[in-house]
Amino acid sequence: MRIPLRVRVLAGQAANLALVVLVWVGAFLLLIELGRSAQSILSENYRSIEAATGMLRALARQDAAQLAALGGSSAGMEDEFTQAETDFLQWLAREKDNITLPGEEAAAADAESLYAVYLARHRAFSRMLPFGAVAARSFYETRVVPARQAVEERTEQLIDMNRGQMYGASRRTSRMATRSLALTILVGVLALVGGALLSVWLSRRITAPVRRLTALTREVAEGNLDVYITPPSRDEIGQLAGSFDAMVKRLKQYRDMDVARLVAERTRADAILAVIGDGILTIDADYRVTSVNAAALAAVGRGRDEVIGRHFLEVMRDEAMFEQLKRTHERGEAPAEGEQEFSVERDGRKLHFRYAFTPIRTGDGQSLGVVLFMQDISKFRELDRLKTEFVMTASHELKTPLTSLTMAVRLLDELPLDERGRELVATAREETDRLKSTVYELLDLSKIEAGRIEMHPEPTDVAMLCEQAAEALAGPAADKRVRFACAVEGAVPAALADPDKVLLVLANLLGNALRYAPAGGEVRVGARGGHGRVYVSVEDDGPGIPLDAQSRVFEPFYRVEGEEHRGGSGLGLAIAREIIRAHRGAIWVESEPGRGSRFIFTLPTARAKNKEGDDGTAD
Ligand code: ADP
Repeated sequence: MRIPLRVRVLAGQAANLALVVLVWVGAFLLLIELGRSAQSILSENYRSIEAATGMLRALARQDAAQLAALGGSSAGMEDEFTQAETDFLQWLAREKDNITLPGEEAAAADAESLYAVYLARHRAFSRMLPFGAVAARSFYETRVVPARQAVEERTEQLIDMNRGQMYGASRRTSRMATRSLALTILVGVLALVGGALLSVWLSRRITAPVRRLTALTREVAEGNLDVYITPPSRDEIGQLAGSFDAMVKRLKQYRDMDVARLVAERTRADAILAVIGDGILTIDADYRVTSVNAAALAAVGRGRDEVIGRHFLEVMRDEAMFEQLKRTHERGEAPAEGEQEFSVERDGRKLHFRYAFTPIRTGDGQSLGVVLFMQDISKFRELDRLKTEFVMTASHELKTPLTSLTMAVRLLDELPLDERGRELVATAREETDRLKSTVYELLDLSKIEAGRIEMHPEPTDVAMLCEQAAEALAGPAADKRVRFACAVEGAVPAALADPDKVLLVLANLLGNALRYAPAGGEVRVGARGGHGRVYVSVEDDGPGIPLDAQSRVFEPFYRVEGEEHRGGSGLGLAIAREIIRAHRGAIWVESEPGRGSRFIFTLPTARAKNKEGDDGTAD
């Protein structure tokens, strides 16, 4: 049966109210009873006492009349006596009308008959009076007085009876009052206790399911959806419990759906990862590998079991890469140096991989881990090598005829020629010079790429190299009114580098900066140490480099569109990158079009000599 909670609460309060009303009614009834018994005392017994007292007064008056007659004044005696007699009979009649006690009627009847005797004696006494006072007195004393006393006695008996009754009634009333008080207190206390028990029971009944609901809600909030509450009743709380069950059921459905969806997503992702030709490795916030695809397993040369759940360092054994991974995770952004490369020896073959770290972030920017992307570039490297070999051979083959050509043009220049001839020879000389420098640069580049140029690393003071490079360019700088500002931050540790090659890199960067800096401007050269590396930067206020060209300026022959007219072969930065790479350093550019460019390269410090796999960073 469905009783609404509101009705139940009201019923509980009504029951309490009923108890209070009950106590009130009881006390009220007792009061009425008390009042009634007190009234009966007054109205019944008091009237009898009043009547009896009236009778006694009448008797006294009759006695006084008789005594006055004996004293000689018998004139008014009969009148007075008769009047008192009338009074007596009236009081007696009232008494008889008000018989309330057992024996009272008999006593009244006795008094009446005795009064008749007294009246008879009085009549005899009246008749004797004219015949002498002595006989009359004697008759009065011996016959009249005893008869009157007998009446008085009976009448007093009536008074005593009623007084006794009054006293008894008063005692009863007082007892009843005491009893009523006790009863009222008892019933009041019972009502109070009953009401309190009722309230406690009712509130328990109402709040118990609410408390259970609260506990279950907490469990649900903590993620336990296997809870169930049987609706305790069909009232509002029962309905709430029913809704709670429905909600938990629905949540469970959603969770199951979600789990199924996640499993499907995961399967899909795994399938995609498996078919992707590039290696992908995901690493969690504790730097443990959480997933890996076949291509990545091939790259690290291990089985799945040796990779999943292992620490990154255990899998890759590359401190420098781990440093980059840590930075990516902590900063929540990919490293500034972008894509890097690593090589491994596998079955006697050298494999080359390009890799990049990408943070995995939640919507609110929290880093959950990092993805390592690895691309096998061994084939490209091989092609590169073949190309380099070709370029090297070609440029080498070009060198001899070019030298002869240059010599020939020089000799031509010494001949007496007309104006036109001289112009043509000057142009030929300019172009052969340019060609020669390009071929030499090409040869340099291919030699460095092929590892044919040996580096002789030694502890090198990079700051000093900066100044040397600036000095070498002092002439052209003065022509353009460009100032070189060398800024060295703190004590720069010695770099482990080939000073001649690094000077070449610096000369290249300073030359470019000088070329692109506005006339009268400034080129800032900086060096500082940190993270086991020396950082060198060359900064100008020139036109800057568009974002899409920034990664390409290091490619051979690449020139930013519209800048071709500034001269140069487009090989300078390519040579610089190869030299820095040969030192296991990194080189990159930071630039905003219109706001100048900043080229940065890193070199290992002399102390970090034994460290493997170096790379650069920009902090
Ligand atoms: P080049 O010998 O033509 O200067 P580089 O390899 O040194 O060749 O440079 C490649 C290209 O990069 C240049 O043609 C130019 O477009 C761009 N570049 C290099 N340095 C700067 C710079 N400081 N400011 C703007 N652009 C630059």
